[in-house]
Amino acid sequence: MNARPQLKSLALDRLRDQFAAEGLPRYRADQVAAWIYQRGVEDPRGMTDLSHELRAHLQGSWALRALEVERVDYSSDGTAKAALRTHDDLLVEAVWIPEEDRTTLCVSTQIGCAMACSFCATGSMGFARNLTSAEIVDQVCRMREVVGSGRTPSNVVFMGMGEPLLNLDAVVEAVRLLIDPKAFGLAPRRVTVSTVGVVPRIGALLERVPINLAISLHATTDEVRSRLVPLNRRYPLEALLGALRGLDSVTRRRPVFFEYTLIAGVNDSVEDARRLPALLAGIPSKVNLIPMNPHPDSPYAPPEAAVIDDFLAALAGRGLTVTLRRSRGPDIQAACGQLALRTRAASAA
Ligand code: SAH
Repeated sequence: MNARPQLKSLALDRLRDQFAAEGLPRYRADQVAAWIYQRGVEDPRGMTDLSHELRAHLQGSWALRALEVERVDYSSDGTAKAALRTHDDLLVEAVWIPEEDRTTLCVSTQIGCAMACSFCATGSMGFARNLTSAEIVDQVCRMREVVGSGRTPSNVVFMGMGEPLLNLDAVVEAVRLLIDPKAFGLAPRRVTVSTVGVVPRIGALLERVPINLAISLHATTDEVRSRLVPLNRRYPLEALLGALRGLDSVTRRRPVFFEYTLIAGVNDSVEDARRLPALLAGIPSKVNLIPMNPHPDSPYAPPEAAVIDDFLAALAGRGLTVTLRRSRGPDIQAACGQLALRTRAASAA
């Protein structure tokens, strides 16, 4: 265990306040942030433009690292999945996804998940605890160091283990560091937070950080969605979609991304495809179809290719932007919904 406070849990304005409260000049916080987030230097001894006193203070009073790399698996397609160890000996997974024009890092927000979606491996492992914002931020630091040769990913998606909106404060604090030009400096539009639909917190998220919103939709009727996503019983489709229509960002025509995991015989019919455009009317929508990635904790399978083609054909020309997402890293269990199996095995051992 590490009792010193985690420096990466504070966005830059709060770090400046903290330094000021300790009698240090505020700009020192900016210098420290530049070392850690821009140059990837986490050992105060390497922060050569700081005084010896301040370096000793950092060393003695703050923890600068929240996670250690436990193992990294590389897929034949270049995707890398890492298991990262917390101070209390839990594992969290992050996935590095190189593409032609960008590199996306998928981060986790919780250890396990309480949402219990019936097709998701993380959902079947139950909930252990929220990650701190330092643990969210450190996924970026560790992955860029061990997988990215020091390069910051161009995009970060909050689509790993856990439900981000049930850990909202930590997620917002981490996002603020990601999009701060004096920290990681990502454009806000290159950060995406995905939610299963915790309706009362969606507006709060977007008021606090101007990032992309993704909604895990997965069905066109409440009957089917409640079977896949139990939270739908509390916030059914009309409540969710109604709330989205009322968002400031939606009235300003910012698109909402919808994830739709295609599951054979469950939500993959031509009728489903035909219902989708009407359901999403009034919301500038981008639909991401993800064929179900199978795993041992779920009875579900992806549809046959011909069924997916029919689904796509039924959606064509209906005014929606639709993409079919290629699974990345399925050979290392790194694809959507496959996180957590090894973590669970490891923590059970
Ligand atoms: N809890 C948030 C963040 C996780 S995002 C959310 O649900 O939005 C992970 C995405 O992968 C979600 O859209 C999830 O529904 C999807 N997913 C889960 N299990 C999957 C599987 N086995 N195959 C394909 N996609 C899956």
